Amino acid sequence: MDLYHQLKSTLKDVVPECDLPYKAELAQRIIELKEEKNAVILGHNYMEPALFHSIPDFTGDSLELCRQAAATDKDIIVFCGVRFMAETAKILNPAKTVLIPSPKAGCSLAESITAADVRALREKYPGVPVVTYVNSYADVKAESDICCTSGNAAKVVESLKAERVIFLPDEYLARNVARETGRQIIFPGKTPRPATDTNDLLQYEMVGWHGRCEVHEQFTVRDIERIRSQLPDVVVLAHPECSPDVVAASDFSGSTSAMVRYVREIDAPRYLLLTECSMGDNIAAENPDREMVRLCSIRCPHMNEITLEDTLAALEQTRYVVELDEDIRMRALQAVERMIAIG
Ligand code: SF4
Repeated sequence: MDLYHQLKSTLKDVVPECDLPYKAELAQRIIELKEEKNAVILGHNYMEPALFHSIPDFTGDSLELCRQAAATDKDIIVFCGVRFMAETAKILNPAKTVLIPSPKAGCSLAESITAADVRALREKYPGVPVVTYVNSYADVKAESDICCTSGNAAKVVESLKAERVIFLPDEYLARNVARETGRQIIFPGKTPRPATDTNDLLQYEMVGWHGRCEVHEQFTVRDIERIRSQLPDVVVLAHPECSPDVVAASDFSGSTSAMVRYVREIDAPRYLLLTECSMGDNIAAENPDREMVRLCSIRCPHMNEITLEDTLAALEQTRYVVELDEDIRMRALQAVERMIAIG
C-alpha cells in the first residue's frame, strides 16, 4: 500500500482527507531523504497525526526516544519533539548530528527555571540532592544530581534514600510525587532566603519549584465531573503534569507511553484523555473500536511548531543543529545516566 492510502486508512477519523495527498507527498520526500542522508527520525507522542504515522523510525515518550537516540548508528538524528528532548539526544550521543526541525519548539516548563536558580537552591539547602524532571534544559540538568521522567519520578526520589529532596521544576509533578511518596513539600520561590534560615527545611521533606506545563495545568476536576455525569462509564486518564486534584479524580495517571498502553489494554467503551490533543488523535487512530471523548482541544504550541515542511527543510539544509557546551553536556550526562540506571 502506498503512503497516501496507508495514511488514509489509519487517519480517516482524525485528519480531513483533503489534507492527506499533500502530507503523504511531503512524508514520502522526507523518507527518501532520510535514507539518502543516513538519518533516523524520532517522533514524540505529541506530534501531529500525519507526521506521527508516516516519517518516524521510532515513536514514544521522551525517555524512550532518547534511548533510541543513544543506540542509533545513523549519522543524523532528527528529533521531532521540543528542544529539551533534542538536547537530551545530544547529551547521550554527542558524536551524531542532532537536528530539531524548528528553533521555536521550546517548553513553558523547561523555561521556568535556569541553572542559576538551581545553584541558588543548592546554596539554600546544602547537601540536599536535586532531582530534575527531563523536561528541562541541559544546563539545568547539569546542576542536578539525577533526572527523572513522569513515569519514574517517585522511584527516582525513593532511590535516593534521602531525608530531603529538591524536585524541579514541575510544581504539579512534584506535588503528585510528594503525595505518592508520603512527603511534605514546600515551594521557596524565586528569591530564596539566606542559607542560615533552615526552619522550613526542618519541617519539610521535599522542595519544589513553581514551573508548570501550560497544557496540563488547564485541566480541572470540574471537567472530569462534567464528563462523568454525562458518561458514567468513561475511563479518565490524566498525565502527572496535571494538578494533584485532577490526578486524584482520574482512573489512571502515567507518562504518555503508559497512557498509550493503558488505552490499548483496558476493556472500556470510551475514555477521556487529559493530555495534549494531538496525542489524543494518535491514540484514537490506533484504537478505532473505542470512543475517545473529546473534552477540548489543547494543543501544545511548542510541539505544534514541528511540521512535515520544517522536517523536510531540516534534512535538506541540515538545520537546526543542536550544540552543547562539552562541560555542560558531561555533567548533564551524569544526571541522565543515573536515571537510566534506575530505569
Ligand atoms: S506539553 Fe507541556 S511539558 Fe510538553 S513541551 Fe508542551 S509545554 Fe512543555
